[in-house]
Amino acid sequence: MTREEQLSGCHVTMQTLLVATWNAHKTKEIGQILGSGWNVRDLTTLVDAPRVEETGSTFAENAALKAVAISNSFPELVLADDSGLAVDALNGEPGVYSARFAGEGATDAQNRSKLIGLLKTLPAREFPARFQCEMVLAHKGEIQGAFSGTVEGIVVAFERGDRGFGYDPMFIPAGYDQTFGELPSETKNGLSHRARALTQVVAFLQKAGVQEFKEFRSSE
Ligand code: IMP
Repeated sequence: MTREEQLSGCHVTMQTLLVATWNAHKTKEIGQILGSGWNVRDLTTLVDAPRVEETGSTFAENAALKAVAISNSFPELVLADDSGLAVDALNGEPGVYSARFAGEGATDAQNRSKLIGLLKTLPAREFPARFQCEMVLAHKGEIQGAFSGTVEGIVVAFERGDRGFGYDPMFIPAGYDQTFGELPSETKNGLSHRARALTQVVAFLQKAGVQEFKEFRSSE
């Protein structure tokens, strides 16, 4: 079985997955990684979706908060992705604050600019770091499973490339010499924290079996 067949859950019909995010970049990557056979939606088109405060102190806690709250509001199988960048030299920052590192409502460019400013005060030029992703599946307010993915690499105190989103232009995955902002999306999607967590999500759903799997389908 090819990786795409494995990820697409080839033995079942179209599976609807509601991703508990307003971040269209995340949704796009999840859709690209899963491939055909999946109907991936997010909250951007759902006007009545509740805003979930990310009050947890870990990615796992925040993913669970989002998955439970959104699946209490919508009937589909819900996937929450909480993710971020952890830089060793900054004691794991930006960590759970990755999306709001430069303040509530900060743009990706503002967050990168704050990180670059901090890194420039340090003597090194390259900084060991990793992207982490915690995914939680939930249905009707009940958590079905939790999954993790990590990609190790280094961050640099400058930006290169305009692909991807967030801290991608500053992150060079181990074994490469280009940033995620420069590498093709296929390369990022083959090794990213998100892809690694999603591989486990799909394996879990396939193991759950076709019958149970179908119960998660939207009534659309
Ligand atoms: P969340 O929406 O609270 O999970 O925050 C995710 C934040 O982590 C994003 O806004 C980015 O700043 C960062 N992040 C997570 N995954 C990636 C990635 O794949 N590339 C670059 N930045 C990422």
